[in-house]
Amino acid sequence: MSVPLLETRDLKKYFKVADGELHAVDGVNITIEQGKTLGVVGESGCGKSTLGRAILRLIEPSGGDVLFEGKSIIGLGKKEMREMRKKMQIIFQDPYSSINPRMSVAEIIAEYMIVNKVYPTKQEIWNQTARLMDTVGLASRLAGAYPHELDGGRRQRIGIARALSLGPKFIVCDEPVSALDVSIQAQILNLLMDLQDEFGLTYMFITHDLSVVRHISSEIAVMYLGQCVERAPTDQLFENPQHPYTQALLAAIPEPDVEMRNKEIKVIRGEVTSPVNPKPGCRFAARCEYATEACSGADPALRDLGGGHFCACTLEHVKAAQS
Ligand code: SF4
Repeated sequence: MSVPLLETRDLKKYFKVADGELHAVDGVNITIEQGKTLGVVGESGCGKSTLGRAILRLIEPSGGDVLFEGKSIIGLGKKEMREMRKKMQIIFQDPYSSINPRMSVAEIIAEYMIVNKVYPTKQEIWNQTARLMDTVGLASRLAGAYPHELDGGRRQRIGIARALSLGPKFIVCDEPVSALDVSIQAQILNLLMDLQDEFGLTYMFITHDLSVVRHISSEIAVMYLGQCVERAPTDQLFENPQHPYTQALLAAIPEPDVEMRNKEIKVIRGEVTSPVNPKPGCRFAARCEYATEACSGADPALRDLGGGHFCACTLEHVKAAQS
């Protein structure tokens, strides 16, 4: 069996807050195969962006492990981690906040290559910068432009070019199209998919938008309050969602077909459980119409339903699917 490019084992990230400990990421196990895209979805505050940052060690995990090409990166020192980051990059939601507004387009794209001394001469760096601009669809005449002179789509292309500049294998895409107009979203998604084909890239694609994640992902992980509650190949998740939270998320997708406009929209009622010092048991229980006593006491384990489908729910139909 091949080793996945990326794997997390019981990954945790807790933050100290006034009332105790906020469990932003709480025991997440995911694997991503080389050249594939794992979509990570969930409401805002579910811990998906924190998960991406903990995987890259932009914030230090509180527990668990991250394996890249089968080797743990948790114990790596600063120097080794700097080398590792060449292989693991991130594209942010708001490219404007992640780039220096005083630098030109070419300077921003070249920055990582200069800092990491990737090429021996400046000329080689500028040549590679020009190639990267071409790869992401930025006209060469924009090399001297400043970020504020460009629209959101072009600014995101700068972020993508910069992420590609060190030749990564794995990229965390953290809501990369959420701040863009719908027409530009499609262009950026198509660009990311083309780059994946061209360079064999592996993505973790974080979003709250299920339509976007369906378009780009081979597999989807659904997160709720710091935990992965369901994971499945994309078609399987959309055709046969098992967790009540996933079912409610899918039922809430707006329907463009006018004949479906009377479709019943399922509203998730109830209070969101606090992620600060959470009690053991299913964190969705306060909002779940199927909750029983069996749902409290211990966190439901992620059960293997077969075919790469996993679900963390004690509900009977999950058990039935296993038999
Ligand atoms: Fe609902 Fe219980 Fe399943 Fe949680 S474990 S989603 S409360 S049925």
